[in-house]
Amino acid sequence: MTDTAPQPTRPPREGPPPGGPGPTDVLIIGGGPAALALAAELCARQLSVRVVAPHAPTPFRPTYGAWLDALPAWAQACAAQVWTDVRVYTGPKPTPLLRPYALLDNARLLRALLERAGEGLHWTLGTVRTVDVDARGPGGAAVVHGAGGERWPARVVVDASGHGAVVNPLQFPGGPAFQTAFGLVARFRRPPIAPGAMVWMDYRGPAHPPRLPTFLYAMHLGGDRYFVEETSLIARPAPDRGFLERRLRARLEEAGTPPHQTESSEWVAFPMNAAAPAPGPVLAFGAAAGLVHPISGFQVSGALQDAPVVAQALAQALASGTDAAQAGWDALWPPERRAARDLHLLGVRALLALPGDALPAFFQSFFRLGAPQWQAFLDPRTPTGPLARTMLQVFAGAPWSVRRPLAAAGVADAGVSVRALSAAMKRPSPPSHLSPAAARHPGAMTRSMDAQHDDATLQREDLDQTETVEEGMQGSTGSTDANGLDPQADQQEKFQELRDNLAPLAGQQE
Ligand SMILES: Cc1cc2nc3c(=O)[nH]c(=O)nc-3n(C[C@H](O)[C@H](O)[C@H](O)COP(=O)(O)OP(=O)(O)OC[C@H]3O[C@@H](n4cnc5c(N)ncnc54)[C@H](O)[C@@H]3O)c2cc1C
Repeated sequence: MTDTAPQPTRPPREGPPPGGPGPTDVLIIGGGPAALALAAELCARQLSVRVVAPHAPTPFRPTYGAWLDALPAWAQACAAQVWTDVRVYTGPKPTPLLRPYALLDNARLLRALLERAGEGLHWTLGTVRTVDVDARGPGGAAVVHGAGGERWPARVVVDASGHGAVVNPLQFPGGPAFQTAFGLVARFRRPPIAPGAMVWMDYRGPAHPPRLPTFLYAMHLGGDRYFVEETSLIARPAPDRGFLERRLRARLEEAGTPPHQTESSEWVAFPMNAAAPAPGPVLAFGAAAGLVHPISGFQVSGALQDAPVVAQALAQALASGTDAAQAGWDALWPPERRAARDLHLLGVRALLALPGDALPAFFQSFFRLGAPQWQAFLDPRTPTGPLARTMLQVFAGAPWSVRRPLAAAGVADAGVSVRALSAAMKRPSPPSHLSPAAARHPGAMTRSMDAQHDDATLQREDLDQTETVEEGMQGSTGSTDANGLDPQADQQEKFQELRDNLAPLAGQQE
């Protein structure tokens, strides 16, 4: 093995893969968060794992955010920052989301994943070209072919090569619809958002043609540093980088908060509407399996949660000599999840059908739901029942300008709509896709996901999120550190900052 690039962390094992000269148990294509999450869980189950990626272990480049409670406990410790003041603007006033949001420290996440994988992980530099599942390499294994003529035998192959899905291209009903965004990390003389806050979605200004709505996604990074990103949630065709950069700069100028020193920029573009892949001899995982959430664009926290379940299924199948790729697919795509995926894609079609200026009203109705409802909707594993009930509630709460195109999208996909309606009327059934063993495994999801979501959705009291907090922080001067996990942070100052930001919510006057 020849790992040559700079390695910021303990390098994975060199030399022949564990288990001797025979095939590796599992070969994973890719070195992104999905690949390494699965690799770590497979190694924890004593399997030999070869990761093939064109780069050495390197901290992931994108800015990864996630709801804190959607991350496994060990990954929560990889948060660079956590915000409790999380806001959405669908009109002039913000709505507090009352759900902590985390920015991941990618170097720490990579380190944690490699530590969890330990000695069982073998990292190979290479670019996979094809997989020959009928090659019958040593031990009856599939043979993975590299661009440099390499041949890597493996008992089971997982494609975690990202949105490009090197083995089985993803299918996008109606053509791919993209999320695109342009972001900056910069220093500001005047804060572009409330100090100490995270803005999940701000649909206000700048003055722009409403047909192509974009929103600001922003985080206070501490001191005078902010991450600001102009985002198009989903569009076909999607706005390009130049458009979004101009709009971001116009927004900041209009608010009187232009950046004065830019540290870095980020361009985001990935498809959001992949259909669930069919089962096959190579298991797809992560973005390569279309597992990006079709409404939020999130995938990383979902991959961290899925990894133990899939690893357990692969380990059991390999131990019993049954079809491991099929077992992994069954674990990843139980019927409930596939049905939920269809429903999500119906939601995507509805969003794409909405006139641009109706999107803020749609999300106003969405976030007017109780926290359990909208949180369940954004969770990749929420089953069709609560999902459909949430969609109906959004529909019922939306103005006619929004309802009409939503109804048209529903009628256009009558089969999915009827199934969704009947799921919405049913009581939840117990989950079928988590084996007790998987649920018991350390690091595995230790709860029945469907039932948990339904319970949360049906039984928890709604938090009052319809109240708005007063605007007034924008343009003020802030110099506090928003890093709740930083031991250097002044906790009292942070609490005061949070109290100030939320005071109007609690009915206190400043
Ligand atoms: C800029 C940006 C920001 C994003 N922000 C978020 C966010 O905040 N939260 C969130 O949940 N999601 C986010 N996403 C969406 C999505 O979750 C990410 O794209 C995520 O990186 C997908 O993880 P992955 O491991 O499946 O694929 P990737 O991270 O794309 O990793 C793919 C891996 O496969 C390797 N590879 C590709 N082709 C081959 C080949 N032929 N042979 C071998 N290796 C190969 C690549 O080098 C890479 O190592 C963002 C996406 C982008 C682009």
